[in-house]
Amino acid sequence: MQKDEMQDPILHFADKCRQANLKVTPQRIAIFKQLIKSENHPSADNVFKSIRTELPHISFDTVNRTLQTFSEIGIIDIVESYSGARRFDPNYKNHHHIHCFKCGDIIDFYNDGFDSIEIPESLKKKYNIISKRVVLNVVCSKCRLE
Ligand SMILES: [Zn+2]
Ligand SMILES: [Zn+2]
Repeated sequence: MQKDEMQDPILHFADKCRQANLKVTPQRIAIFKQLIKSENHPSADNVFKSIRTELPHISFDTVNRTLQTFSEIGIIDIVESYSGARRFDPNYKNHHHIHCFKCGDIIDFYNDGFDSIEIPESLKKKYNIISKRVVLNVVCSKCRLE
């Protein structure tokens, strides 16, 4: 992501924090920035490893708890992956996922047609639908070449 493209998500992030009465601390901004930089829906461990160059004294527990807090107030989504570790999604725009089941990459994509897929009435009656996303399970080009 380019530097100017990072501006919008950070403003959105700061707004959400204020709405939830969560202080916008430099540490929280740093953690959020790592999330949007990665573009691959990182796990808590991924965020922890990459942020240590910037914040060498931060603990894994702090990173993990912060990510949990972000998801509780709706700044980020938790994305389940097949490999087990929870992954985090900072993209607040309506989007869908390409998931490589070999390497575990999760990549965002946008599609108006998928956005407007109707949820069947029978499901709407049965469940309180919170969100909707299309996931394409693929073998990515990187894995296909191996
Ligand atoms: Zn792959
Ligand atoms: Zn995503």
